[in-house]
Amino acid sequence: MERVLIHNIGEFYTGDLAEPMKPVRSLAIEGTRIAEFDPVSHEGFDTVIDADGCAVVPGLIDGHVHPVAGEWTPTQDAIGWVGNYLHGGTTTMLSAGELHMPGLDYGRLTPDLVTSLAEVTASTFGSQRASGVKLHAGTALLVPGMTEAHFDRLAAAGAKLVKFLFYPFALDPDEARRYVRWARERGLRSKVHTGGVSRSGVSQICGFEILSWLQPDIAAHISGGPIPMCDEDLDRVIDETEFPLEICSSGNYASGHRAVRRLVARGRLDRLTLGSDTPGGTGIIPRGAWRNVLFLASMCGLSPGEAIAVATGNTGRAHGLQEGILAPGRPADLALCGPVEGSAGRSLGDAVAHGDLPGITHVLIDGRAVVSGRSRQTPPPRLRPVVACCGPNFRTAL
Ligand SMILES: [Zn+2]
Repeated sequence: MERVLIHNIGEFYTGDLAEPMKPVRSLAIEGTRIAEFDPVSHEGFDTVIDADGCAVVPGLIDGHVHPVAGEWTPTQDAIGWVGNYLHGGTTTMLSAGELHMPGLDYGRLTPDLVTSLAEVTASTFGSQRASGVKLHAGTALLVPGMTEAHFDRLAAAGAKLVKFLFYPFALDPDEARRYVRWARERGLRSKVHTGGVSRSGVSQICGFEILSWLQPDIAAHISGGPIPMCDEDLDRVIDETEFPLEICSSGNYASGHRAVRRLVARGRLDRLTLGSDTPGGTGIIPRGAWRNVLFLASMCGLSPGEAIAVATGNTGRAHGLQEGILAPGRPADLALCGPVEGSAGRSLGDAVAHGDLPGITHVLIDGRAVVSGRSRQTPPPRLRPVVACCGPNFRTAL
């Protein structure tokens, strides 16, 4: 089992909202997992990375992406988006529905078709797993008439979520509630489009009333994707429900600010999760996950550690993942990063508090280097980590 040591760490972000930073100066990885903080001996490691005072942060989790077919997204007719998001520091992504298949007629979706679409999309990410990115696809667009057998197929395809997007809630609320239950019985979570209609023009409008009786596992983009629910509904969702609430890059900044400040005032930052809601009409945003963190820290009053924890530990937990928290036994998914030359920040925390994008040098997924030396998507940080000795997993780094 390959052993990796990262030492000379400047700041250490845990991803855990309960204790967002720890005074960890070195980190031992064994195989795919974090083994130990501050090991007594620095001998006997296959790979040794001198972080040069850079920060270690958990790999960011984008809780809301719209994949279709591997690296290709027809929404903006572009190729390579998954790898570009990885170079922006995102190591895990969760599909919020695969609705962008060219020519798909949203008026003629059937239970078999949406289930098959989810299976096909999930199957196009085999090569992504080989490159390390954890993209959980296979999120079906729920339609009336589904049976438990459809949910069995989705679970077998490895899906993490099902999505209420085009679902006609007025038709039969009992059926929608049954879907939430069937999903949970198979370890899947249900996510609901909220706010006004999206680019398709046919997604269902959803605010407090539907959420209150549906009780989904996660309310998607409560600040809009792109159009938010009204302020009164937003306040009631925060005050009168308990499930995780997601904010996305596609949303309304004022509603996002309102929601975050209200969650902070209620002491319920633990409910907040993040996503980009891309690729889509908002575009392709490789640095989108970091931009969400910067918005929370520089505009919404969160500490840098809290903002990073929302983007990692909170979002991972809401989707039932082990990823997002750096602790012994957890997956070794992390990034080395620091302030960029010219940034107002002397440390990563300073830079993030000021709203400055950090520079990324290395990204590890399951203990393996998938970005090494320089991110394609961020400026280089002022500090320059070096890999002093190099084990097999690092020699094959991209
Ligand atoms: Zn979406």
